[in-house]
Amino acid sequence: MTLTEPTTRAAASVDLTLQLISTGAADGAACSPELVKGPWEFDSGPVAYGPGSSMGDVIPTGSPRQGQLPTAYREAANDELHERIRAAKATLGDRVVVLGHFYQRDEVVQHADFVGDSFQLANAAKGKPDAEAIVFCGVHFMAETADMLSGPDQAVILPNLAAGCSMADMANLDDVTECWEQLEELYGTEPDADGRVPVIPVTYMNCSAALKGFVGEHGGIVCTSSNAATVLEWAFERGQRVLFFPDQHLGRNTAKAMGVPLEQMPMWNPRKPLGGSTETELLDARVLLWHGFCSVHKRFTVDQIDEARRTHPGVHVIVHPECPMPVVDAADSAGSTDFIVKAIQAAPAGSTFAIGTEVNLVQRLAAEYPQHTIFCLDPVVCPCSTMYRIHPGYLAWVLEELVAGRVVNRIEVDDSVAAPARVALERMLAAKPPAA
Ligand code: SF4
Repeated sequence: MTLTEPTTRAAASVDLTLQLISTGAADGAACSPELVKGPWEFDSGPVAYGPGSSMGDVIPTGSPRQGQLPTAYREAANDELHERIRAAKATLGDRVVVLGHFYQRDEVVQHADFVGDSFQLANAAKGKPDAEAIVFCGVHFMAETADMLSGPDQAVILPNLAAGCSMADMANLDDVTECWEQLEELYGTEPDADGRVPVIPVTYMNCSAALKGFVGEHGGIVCTSSNAATVLEWAFERGQRVLFFPDQHLGRNTAKAMGVPLEQMPMWNPRKPLGGSTETELLDARVLLWHGFCSVHKRFTVDQIDEARRTHPGVHVIVHPECPMPVVDAADSAGSTDFIVKAIQAAPAGSTFAIGTEVNLVQRLAAEYPQHTIFCLDPVVCPCSTMYRIHPGYLAWVLEELVAGRVVNRIEVDDSVAAPARVALERMLAAKPPAA
């Protein structure tokens, strides 16, 4: 596990880069000119996740909405917000722990007590049983996981309720339940001669608590991008095939590396009868891939890799397994954010890396490891739009509310959902191979 100490690298921040591009003070391109606005400009918007990599995705009806951030926080200069955050944290002391995801903007990450991926941060929260409040600077499903793994008296707070995840939102409980019923009708429910049930549900950590609960109730398991292969092995020991959601790319890349042929990995599109496959294809399937994806990692292309190799001979290309399969195949290596960070840490000085993951992490790594040349594969600056909804203004607001004795934006998972979800998470932990 790599949980890093936060550092202040304002010069490398994506936010600053975007401001400079917008004024013409720096070369470069951003995917949306609206990225330089405050995220509160979009809180009352209709159905958009806001500018950035997920802006083309549609927010499901019923997703949490963020109310108007008080004017004082919207109008305050960044320096003032940073001062207020520091003061509130100092007042609260050990009563609060602030968690910052790797993909979060630097202006927020600099105030985090821990920085890491979603599961590392949920575990970090678990290690602070005395903190009354856990402020999770990430997205909604991460705060839900932290709530399920933290104590019952600890309040998990998401500074902006509009910080969802477009990938997580691509699979909902109704659609997965309907899919499951169709599969049960096709496959039956009886185990084969080896005791393996017809299908095991496997969900990526990036999903709602409701879906974690669903897999817990149906003999399934959760995975992360670090342990997807171990989890699939666990599932194949117990089932003839796997239903993998919501990220088709992580499922495909992992299963392919394990030797599952592509023709035995049909896609399940919830908007099509039988998911868009024939009965024969489904009967022959080893892994059924849900029709979901990450809009951030979908931006990476083989052309970008070719360009990186042309302009930087000897470059090492590392991409996240949420990238499409041709991109993973063309890269030198693929792995989770933790894998990427460790690869950079272990490299000899003077190495060159082109990275296919969220730009906030890439720019931070470039600043933290000046002995290397590190750049994002995508030349267009396009952060995860939902992560970008957390801004120092929201962080200052939730912390000052805590100082005043008020808990705002609390994320709570009902125990009827949390109990089976914890079962699925515990299966994952038990399936984890011993640390090397
Ligand atoms: S980077 Fe992709 S998977 Fe992660 S929060 Fe953003 S949209 Fe979701």
